[in-house]
Amino acid sequence: MNIKNNIIALQSELKSTGAKLIAVSKTQPVEKIQEAYDSGQRLFGENKAQEMASKYQVLPKDIQWHMIGHLQSNKVKYIAPFVSLIHSIDSIKLLLEIDKQAKKNNRIIPCLLQVHIAQEETKFGFDKTEIYQLISSQEVKECKNIRIVGLMGMATLTTDTVQIRNEFKTLKEIFDTIKKGSLPLNVEMSQLSIGMSSDYKIALSEGSTLIRIGTSIFGERNYTIS
Ligand SMILES: *Cc1c(COP(=O)(O)O)cnc(C)c1O
Repeated sequence: MNIKNNIIALQSELKSTGAKLIAVSKTQPVEKIQEAYDSGQRLFGENKAQEMASKYQVLPKDIQWHMIGHLQSNKVKYIAPFVSLIHSIDSIKLLLEIDKQAKKNNRIIPCLLQVHIAQEETKFGFDKTEIYQLISSQEVKECKNIRIVGLMGMATLTTDTVQIRNEFKTLKEIFDTIKKGSLPLNVEMSQLSIGMSSDYKIALSEGSTLIRIGTSIFGERNYTIS
């Protein structure tokens, strides 16, 4: 894999869309992340808090770190000082802990609510009704140190592109409906995080603003060497 060429190709594909590229660097060594950085990439996605924190320590400080994986509440403290955006809010408990840790660090942490759109039972996230309830809840209103800036979703792992498109459409409809409503001060709908290596083209045509790409930049992940 030529990391530089892959990034340049993806970035040029994104130009006309206004969407941003998150290079998903989970399991990748810092040398590969540095190579992507040297090719101009600044947004990186990780799915483990401690792995992100240790990479943050050694890599350039103008990298924007995105947490894209399921996050346990007791791990929030590792990333709260520096994380740019947490895509994977899947419980109110997690949201409250992020608010608490953000306050300790005297900052406001931007977050996305993860919505369960896939058919698979295993994927994390809220369903449609839970999202509406959450956004209008008093608990969320009182979280002064978080800002909910949009939604994240993952489509079913399938080759059926019609199904993938329908799942993205469902999420976009929820996004648009929320956007039209009256929102608490700490909620806005500006970011829609959909699309991975296998389905980002569909996601872009359905309104993605953040695509999360690992394999098409770095190649297949090797989970044994990380
Ligand atoms: C790993 C991961 C990605 C990237 O997947 P690729 O298929 O390698 O592009 C995107 N989003 C999430 C939530 C992930 O965990």
